[in-house]
Amino acid sequence: MSVLGILNCSELVTLAGPARPRVGAELRELQVIPDGAMLIRDGRVERVGPRREIEMDAATQVIDAGGRVVMPGFVDAHTHPVFAGNRADEFEKRAEGASDPEIAAAGGGIRSTVRRTRAASEAELLAAASRHADWFLRNGTTTIEAKSGYGLSVSDELKLLRVIAKIRPLRVVPTFLGAHEVPAEYHGRREEYLKLVIEEMLPRAAPLSKFCDVFCEPRVFPVDDARRVLEAAKRRGLGLRMHADQLENGGGARLAAELGAATADHLEHTDAPGIAALHDAHVQPVLLPGAVYALGSRNYPAARAMIAAGLAIVLATDFNPGTSPTPSMPMILSIAATQMKIAPAEGISASTINAAFSLGLGAEVGSLEPGKRADFAIHDCGDHRELAYFFGMETAQEVYIDGRLVYSKQHAA
Ligand SMILES: [Zn+2]
Repeated sequence: MSVLGILNCSELVTLAGPARPRVGAELRELQVIPDGAMLIRDGRVERVGPRREIEMDAATQVIDAGGRVVMPGFVDAHTHPVFAGNRADEFEKRAEGASDPEIAAAGGGIRSTVRRTRAASEAELLAAASRHADWFLRNGTTTIEAKSGYGLSVSDELKLLRVIAKIRPLRVVPTFLGAHEVPAEYHGRREEYLKLVIEEMLPRAAPLSKFCDVFCEPRVFPVDDARRVLEAAKRRGLGLRMHADQLENGGGARLAAELGAATADHLEHTDAPGIAALHDAHVQPVLLPGAVYALGSRNYPAARAMIAAGLAIVLATDFNPGTSPTPSMPMILSIAATQMKIAPAEGISASTINAAFSLGLGAEVGSLEPGKRADFAIHDCGDHRELAYFFGMETAQEVYIDGRLVYSKQHAA
């Protein structure tokens, strides 16, 4: 039996509260304990409270947080972490004024990542994914949702899902995204590709996945196509997530509501009826401002309207090589604050407890409460607002998963 005691926290940010995601004014209620301490037994939180109320005996292994912020590890509910190569060339072209159609015509876009990912071995992809996993840890993230979607053939999608299953030491929730794009060899034959996804990929991907996702866009997979894939996934017992209304308002949010999806993600173009539909069906919006920022767009989702409507918003990185190449949740909190007027406390709720509920992990992670897993980070700041305020920094000093040290900035240096 191992007992760990964390003390000297300027703020112990617990996010304690009801066993459901936070909405409205609750998003600002982080349940911060000043000069807090936490007792951990066998990888789970046993007690939290003011320092003077937490008793530590001689057998307790004490960790001094050094007067810093201690909070739950971030839960990143939307990432694409398994891919080969990167798209720095496209990034440069975009900076020089190239449009997305021009980049796609030159062989760029998702399909260029698919080419390189197909050519990579499972070992090469695991090495890349492990490097990305380390980046998440350095930014205080302890759980990620991880999508396939750069294979787009039966064997390559399964290869990605096998790699996702091997990512350590992050806690990983796997999502099958075979309908991410129509691959080049199926150009003009979308219907045939859909059949492949539904009849051949899905049956073999389902045992390796917890969720199924579809890139639902009028010019990629319109709602009627997305519905077929997602209904088939539902019949196989998978939860549903959706890329919806990112490039135009194609009815993606309403489809997510119709199907009872766990989340509808992106939503840059979702209108008021779409927001109302998400509310009525208890679908959580996953907002991905990194993808708006990195594309140089100004079309941020209507976050304040969603909060006002009572939606349990989630913030995530959308980490991927094309449109959001960041693993940093603090960076996302910064963009959310400056571009979407999401207060730092609201951003922290959206990227911890609400994200955990969106993944079906609300009883296990996302807050520091007795019985939950001891997934937490010590950040080099005295006040949680600094996480969003300073930007472009790696603030995490130490990161723990199940009460085990998995990252230390000091050791890394
Ligand atoms: Zn995405």
